[in-house]
Amino acid sequence: MAWWFGIKLWKRVFLGLVLGVAFGLTVTQTMGPEAGEALLAKVRVIGDVFIRLIRMIVVPLVFFTLVAGIYAMGDPKKLGTIGIKAFALYLGTTFFANLIGLGMGTLFRPGDGVTLSEDGPRRELAADAPSIGERLMGIIPENPFAALVQGDILAVIFFALLLGVGLLMAREAGAAAGRFFEAVAEGILKMTHIIMELAPFGVFGLIAYVAGTQGIATFTAILSLTLAVYLGCAVHMLLVYGGLVRVVLRLPFVAYFRSILDPMMVAYSTSSSSATLPVTIRAATENLGIKKSVAGSVLPLGATINMDGTSLYLGIVALFTAQAFGYELAPQHYFLIALTAALVSIGTAGVPSASLFLLSIVLDVFNVDPAHIALVIGFIFPFDRLLDMMRTVTNVTGDTAVATAVAKWEGQLDEDIFRAKPLS
Ligand code: ASP
Repeated sequence: MAWWFGIKLWKRVFLGLVLGVAFGLTVTQTMGPEAGEALLAKVRVIGDVFIRLIRMIVVPLVFFTLVAGIYAMGDPKKLGTIGIKAFALYLGTTFFANLIGLGMGTLFRPGDGVTLSEDGPRRELAADAPSIGERLMGIIPENPFAALVQGDILAVIFFALLLGVGLLMAREAGAAAGRFFEAVAEGILKMTHIIMELAPFGVFGLIAYVAGTQGIATFTAILSLTLAVYLGCAVHMLLVYGGLVRVVLRLPFVAYFRSILDPMMVAYSTSSSSATLPVTIRAATENLGIKKSVAGSVLPLGATINMDGTSLYLGIVALFTAQAFGYELAPQHYFLIALTAALVSIGTAGVPSASLFLLSIVLDVFNVDPAHIALVIGFIFPFDRLLDMMRTVTNVTGDTAVATAVAKWEGQLDEDIFRAKPLS
């Protein structure tokens, strides 16, 4: 057993990933798709247990780390500067994601030659998606306890921010409660350690199912769309986040990516930035050396509103639709697609395939026929998982890049930890 725990966690998780793909493909090859899927569904249970465990701690983690994070700032005014910097960077990086997405969609032209016949698969659109206005109002919880119970993250964030500020303003009288929140946050983070020991097996189960049921065939069926999304996300992560870390912050590029391998792999296998959040916070504080005041405030917000991978993806799919159905796009359409994709990505929940069902909002920019929208969603849906995995990795990486920058500018980054090799 000791040898197993002696291997670095990310290596074990990576092993789970690779073996999972191999296992999934082999099972489907040898047993055929149906019997294979039945077996893989059983194997996936371990992955589902893993996801449930990390989801279990998301709400308490966000609540306690956020209150503790604000409390650790020591001064309510800092909240304003940290908030402004984080927002500016979240928007700035999303702008580049849009450029890259539209660039990839133009370069690869993934929709050319795709015929989406009227009798192809259709998907009904989610008609009950809340409007932007409703979502904004929903940020203020009518009952914060209900928000906690329902896991309404934005509302929890709002309440936790104010509670942290309140405790700071109460000074001595709030100190005991402040320390209580810090202590619980510490304990929950330690729970992440326990749960992460299951990650290699969980990732194996999740990926085996995806590889076995989606297979290489789906990859090739939509080869250019997949290539455009994967390459776009990779370019964005390396150039924009890597550039931010290396050129703007003057920190080592390799150390940065090495430190966040755990959350990247968990994001890839779960396709959910909010499920990955506990792992992201852990990597940020323990490997990147980001102080709790910044990690605890910037990351929960980022997991909810900062989704560059999603924005990039929506831009590519919008161009895909235009190309597949022959819609002519004028220059202002490109601008509007970028703007809407960015807004939709802010409103997207950090759960699997969330953005695919909000695609219609982006496609409305160039008045796509609702029948065509349903066809596109029906066409992409079966293999959206493969695209979702990559955009979620990008979303999560973006959160850590922004948190690193804010921490550095606020003097809240321990560069010795950043440069050191990750411990686990
Ligand atoms: N699955 C993505 C995430 O959690 C959201 C999306 O569907 O784009 O980050």
